[in-house]
Amino acid sequence: GRWELRLTFSGILNDKLHGFYRSTYKDANGKEKALASTQFESTDARRAFPCWDEPAFKAVFRVTLVIDDGLTAISNARVISETSLAGIGKKEVVFADSMKMSTYLVAFIVGEFEATDPVMVGKSPLRVWAVPGKRHLAKFAQEIGSFSLSHFSGYYDIAYPGDKLDLIAIPDFASGAMENLGAITFRETALLVDEAKATRAELERVADVVSHENAHMWFGDLVTMRWWNGLWLNEAFATFMEMIAVDAWKPEWRRWDSFTVSRAAAMQVDGLKSTRPIEFPVEKPEEAAGMFDVLTYEKGASVLRMLEQYLGAEAFRDGIRLYLRRHEYANAETTDLWDALEDSTRQPVRPLMDSWIFQAGYPLISVERDGRGLILSQSIFRYLQDGNTPERKWHVPIFIRAGTKRGVVNRTILLTDPRVRVELPDDADWVVVNAGGHGFYRARYSPDLMADLKQALQTSLAAVERFNLVNDAWATALAGLTPLSEYLNLIDLLRDETDVNVWTSVIISCHNLNRILGEKQRDALRTRVRAVFAAALDRLTWSPRAGESELDRQLRGDLIGALG
Ligand SMILES: [Zn+2]
Repeated sequence: GRWELRLTFSGILNDKLHGFYRSTYKDANGKEKALASTQFESTDARRAFPCWDEPAFKAVFRVTLVIDDGLTAISNARVISETSLAGIGKKEVVFADSMKMSTYLVAFIVGEFEATDPVMVGKSPLRVWAVPGKRHLAKFAQEIGSFSLSHFSGYYDIAYPGDKLDLIAIPDFASGAMENLGAITFRETALLVDEAKATRAELERVADVVSHENAHMWFGDLVTMRWWNGLWLNEAFATFMEMIAVDAWKPEWRRWDSFTVSRAAAMQVDGLKSTRPIEFPVEKPEEAAGMFDVLTYEKGASVLRMLEQYLGAEAFRDGIRLYLRRHEYANAETTDLWDALEDSTRQPVRPLMDSWIFQAGYPLISVERDGRGLILSQSIFRYLQDGNTPERKWHVPIFIRAGTKRGVVNRTILLTDPRVRVELPDDADWVVVNAGGHGFYRARYSPDLMADLKQALQTSLAAVERFNLVNDAWATALAGLTPLSEYLNLIDLLRDETDVNVWTSVIISCHNLNRILGEKQRDALRTRVRAVFAAALDRLTWSPRAGESELDRQLRGDLIGALG
């Protein structure tokens, strides 16, 4: 039959930054103040109240807080009543029922707080909260907050599942932010920003984090991983969606271009012998703590982006919608997402994604000419060539773009064998594999194809593709797979290069080379690359020009630094 269990318990307000914890900060007058906040992911709801503290036990939560008069309380749902308790200087705040959700998403925050005026997103008011004196720093976050929330409800085709959304800046917070439904907590620097004084990087960080957390309201909160092995997908997907929203909000930021740098960072780690697969079995929740790294966020998001580009953005989105509708207010396995994408696209998504998430590392795609076509082959990429490189095979979406007499030709294939021949409709003047730069793999071109690409470098390749060409040439040279001279020849051609990401990659590689080379070679290298850097700087001009972009300013600083 049906049973009802009532428990009376008392807990403590701890100072450990998880569970229900006490946090202190200095106010504008330097006076020490305290507030209380929660941080429950992964298993700290049990520190605050007795519960079945695993993501699959979803429940409706009704929160009532008795707090001092003069303080503010925030929880997952709206306040439905606030009653003064006569004579004791306290009040009782009752919140509406939450939606059915996991314990790690419950939150309550108590302290001195000020809020912005609400902005309505659909039927839900959205506010930004901060400790007194900081409300003027909340405007930017509220803008991207309301934009991304509305953008996601369109993308997912499901209204925001909460009854309001509060974005709360906590002075003392262990991680960047936490996606509690309706009451997202942030480290102050990830939410509050002075738009007039902030750098582009600081603004981008706030836009990224706010969008990321908002994406979780559906992916993570409405549909939740059944167990902690699925944590990577939760985070990888929110990272992917943060780019979708920020790119739609400010296309001029070219957010996917700057993501190339994050992808390259993940490829660097994933090219080491010690790397791990994206998903691995988790028995105890603590083991999932190892998942909060570059392989989860950046590699995970890259692989999702590669899949999206392979399936087509709309077809991919339709699969996401199907997945969310199938599992809303419930839990799902990683494979449920692949199944929904298969059902909506009729493409073999599961074997494709299994090859990327259960195998560590990534492939090197070697490309050579074969008559009018190309031969593509795959092998694992490792920096260390110690003769123990394992045999691995991926299902690799290959995006080919070729320049021919009759114009530019695009081809997409799924490479599942170690080697395949691709026929092109005409003789190619140049060929790019990984066109658009969405693939999580490196390319190694045969010398003749490389020579063609060098000719076409500034005329036919996008900045992202030039970045990958340079970055891959450096990585394969480091691994001893291609001669270093080939990489240096490529640098010689960068006198006209204007992309800051390409230059950052080149400058870092030169610093590293400087450390490895002997003194004589070092002098030769310095003379050679200085000539290129100086030419690029002449082109950019040594002093700032009126109306130039922040990226040009950054590039000038980088080049002058490298010459110094
Ligand atoms: Zn997240």
